Amino acid sequence: MTPVLVINSGSSSFKYQLLDMDTERTLASGLVERIGEPVGVARHTVHAAALAAADGPAPAVLDATRTRELPIPDHTAGFAVMLDAFAAHGPSLAETPPVAVGHRVVHGGARFFEPTLVTPLVEINIDELSLLAPLHNPANLAGIVAARAAFPEVPHVAVFDTAFHQTLSPAAYTYAIDAEVAASHRIRRYGFHGTSHKFVSEAAAAFLGRPLGELKQIVFHLGNGASVTAIDGGRSIDTSMGFTPLEGLVMGTRSGDIDPAVLFQLQRRAGMSVDDLDDLLNKRSGLLGLAGSNDLRDIRSAIERGEPRAILAFEVYVHRLRAYAGAYLAQLGGADVISFTAGVGENAPGVRAGALETLGFAGVEIDHARNESAERGIRIISTDASAVTVLVVPTDEELEIARQTLSVARP
Ligand code: AMP
Repeated sequence: MTPVLVINSGSSSFKYQLLDMDTERTLASGLVERIGEPVGVARHTVHAAALAAADGPAPAVLDATRTRELPIPDHTAGFAVMLDAFAAHGPSLAETPPVAVGHRVVHGGARFFEPTLVTPLVEINIDELSLLAPLHNPANLAGIVAARAAFPEVPHVAVFDTAFHQTLSPAAYTYAIDAEVAASHRIRRYGFHGTSHKFVSEAAAAFLGRPLGELKQIVFHLGNGASVTAIDGGRSIDTSMGFTPLEGLVMGTRSGDIDPAVLFQLQRRAGMSVDDLDDLLNKRSGLLGLAGSNDLRDIRSAIERGEPRAILAFEVYVHRLRAYAGAYLAQLGGADVISFTAGVGENAPGVRAGALETLGFAGVEIDHARNESAERGIRIISTDASAVTVLVVPTDEELEIARQTLSVARP
């Protein structure tokens, strides 16, 4: 067994997953949340794979989840709660300790292009990059510090959301503003969701049995956050998120693309502060702002009830997807594969069909029965005659982080 622990740490919560990299199966996963609040919550799930291994071959066993409520003042306390859960419910980290710990880090700036072994200097750099990602990097770092204290003997590896997009050309990452202002404030497109875009594009090539290096791909990662990437031969050449994860597609609560002059107008005429505007565009826009919910399932029910604002929200969402599909077909000079992933991309056939229905001229033909099918797992939803293969590819960022972690820890 080769256990790797993956940590995805936010400001008041962290998720974890223990994977056996011999089989790439999840042994246990959990969520520690409401850190710093009067009562925190910890959920620990032991997966059937681990139960079967412990109890002998018993393939019918179900995943088992335990929940605890207790004060969790900080991330270090949260890690103690996680270790208690492993000790009480398994799998035993004392018997099979992780060989490495992988950490999701949102922003690697223009500095970190690859998964990186965490050292005190790397921690300083991640902290310094908080200037660019003030919401995310401090939380990621808190997780790293707590995890290194809990597992001082094993290598810790930082895997950056931005790293996959380091292949963007200057033409793709440069904003057309005063070059000196941009340089002195490190303003450029960085791109995010890189771990998912990399995983999905590689999984698509493997599924189709075609060399990654020969494929032109477009990957739509449509979750609560959403982005799309044009990938040529496995290299990201354009991506919709930019300096921050706010740019691009319509998201659950984020506006995506907007004329920046709207902000000047709201500041001057509506008296909104910078913080008000940040809150408006990041937390009160997108599907939520248009239709009152950030969850596409609610929008779908509201559309069935004939609510005009839900119908409009869906149309705006799909209109933007189509605009990016067209733009990236042009940037790539056509595509071999278009994939959909994440909560919306994997579960909303109407969104997939809407995004691609006008692209017949470019050789994209959706098979509606395949698209509507309730089948799970990686699958083709285009017709056999379609020149472009359209796929649904379930993403697995934890597995990708574990793979990259192991590649650094055991080169
Ligand atoms: P993620 O960020 O990838 O976890 O995606 C979460 C989002 O996926 C939710 O906010 C929903 O909008 C969407 N979603 C999840 N399940 C479904 C479903 N069965 N049908 C439509 N949308 C879904």
